[in-house]
Amino acid sequence: MPELAKAAEDALTTIGVGLGRAATPGGATRTVPTPLTGEDLLSVPVSDRDDVAVAIERAAAAWPAWAQTPAPVRGETVRRLGDLLREHKDTLADLITLEVGKIASEARGEVQEMIDVCDMAVGLSRRFGGHTLPSERPGHQLQETWQPLGPIAVISAFNFPAAVWSWNTAIALVCGDTIVWKPSERTPLTSLGCAALLAQALTEAGHPDVHQLVLTADPADGAPLLDDGRIRLVSATGSTRMGAEVGPRVQARFGRTLLELGGNNAAIVTPSADLDLAVRAIVFAAAGTAGQRCTTLRRLIAHEEVVDELTDRIRAAYEQLTVGNPWRRDDVHVGPLIHEGAYTAMRDAIDRGHADGGQVVTGGERVEVGPGGCYVTPALATMPEQTDLVREETFAPLLWVLPYTDLDEAIAIHNDVPQGLASSIFTRDLREAGRFTGPLGSDCGIVNVNVGPSGAEVGGAFGGEKATGGGRETGSDAWKAYMRRGTTTINHSDELPLAQGVEF
Ligand code: NAD
Repeated sequence: MPELAKAAEDALTTIGVGLGRAATPGGATRTVPTPLTGEDLLSVPVSDRDDVAVAIERAAAAWPAWAQTPAPVRGETVRRLGDLLREHKDTLADLITLEVGKIASEARGEVQEMIDVCDMAVGLSRRFGGHTLPSERPGHQLQETWQPLGPIAVISAFNFPAAVWSWNTAIALVCGDTIVWKPSERTPLTSLGCAALLAQALTEAGHPDVHQLVLTADPADGAPLLDDGRIRLVSATGSTRMGAEVGPRVQARFGRTLLELGGNNAAIVTPSADLDLAVRAIVFAAAGTAGQRCTTLRRLIAHEEVVDELTDRIRAAYEQLTVGNPWRRDDVHVGPLIHEGAYTAMRDAIDRGHADGGQVVTGGERVEVGPGGCYVTPALATMPEQTDLVREETFAPLLWVLPYTDLDEAIAIHNDVPQGLASSIFTRDLREAGRFTGPLGSDCGIVNVNVGPSGAEVGGAFGGEKATGGGRETGSDAWKAYMRRGTTTINHSDELPLAQGVEF
């Protein structure tokens, strides 16, 4: 067996996944390629629409008992999941590298993010709740109650094959929901690993059916999750194109959606910025994860006084990055693109940009790394002004540099895109930072000062506005999306006064 296939099999065996046992009744399977070399890793079972319907049935049947389990007890299951993730951190990180091509440090960081979310959810299980509000009626009490929502669907993207699932799942579990997870078709192995660890925790707790995994070969086979009225919330992470299809379809049956969609993230660099700090943040945000984060920096809006120096310093930093196969190597900064199509889209954007007056400063070239895999040097390109092309999300390491003369103009350029996910300003001027973070500043969900747009912590709510979908996952009060709010009025008196003084 080739080395990478053997590594994938060993990782799954360590976690306790036997692919034979996981096969569907019909026994259909498909092979999973690795972007590291393009070779096939393993065969996995395929879920068709009937399997998805069965998974919904099971999640619905498991819900009443789970919903009635006290939240802190549900939290114990999430604590157990967090412990299992700690135990298998390196193994899961290997699966992420094998399936997505992330460098080891970022793959381990993704698993750490899952552990952090579990810790946060355990705490949440003892403290979420509503307000008690003053009633206008004597002897009455008005209160908010938060109840489990029901079975929910989690649809996740390839580029965070584990963390996005955990943002939703850890919180939904403590909130008392049951879950059907449809991961990206590109990442079934990581999904099997995550689901096996949670299955262990849930089985120990006596609730084995609370979480269901479906491995479709075609996104369209996830249709029952969108159309079945028992699925109370569809939390979907992926492209804006996907959200435009999924959102209206779920809303048409009055189901709830939580959409985490594409970004077109920018950073403004003002004349007062600390350029050393800005360059470090920009290089990680634009070239890290091979430009395949939803929060990747794609537009750099730099003041005309600093644009040339900044571009030159980023070029120099880019030319020191090591592009290559990160498997068992710690010196690689940029791994492969997920597939050839990502490179085609990147080249197409560079060529179209050239026609619009754009100039490549460095990068955008194929790097031959062994017999397979799609490796590319991160591209840095100048563009005289923002064009329709720059307004699109190209999901690859391609950073456009746009000049500006005053901050109002920079903020206007910044906000003049369909998406609204993550944003940054680099400045040492408190007034500029205040304008960017204020009501007429960045229109994004994530608004950073002297920090790049990518690499969020789990404690804050994560998500974006406009074509990014408006959803928020993980921290702050994002848990509310996974619960039903009840407004409860209790009459402790012997009278029946009506609200607003109505007599009847
Ligand atoms: P994608 O839209 O191709 O797929 C995402 C998921 O949606 C997959 O599980 C896919 O099977 C599913 N899907 C697609 N069409 C569907 C349909 N009709 N019915 C049901 N499910 C359907 O995205 P991708 O290529 O996997 O991921 C990259 C994209 O995701 C980028 O646009 C990136 O910005 C975005 N993303 C956003 C966030 C965020 O939090 N905002 C996080 C990660 C990725």
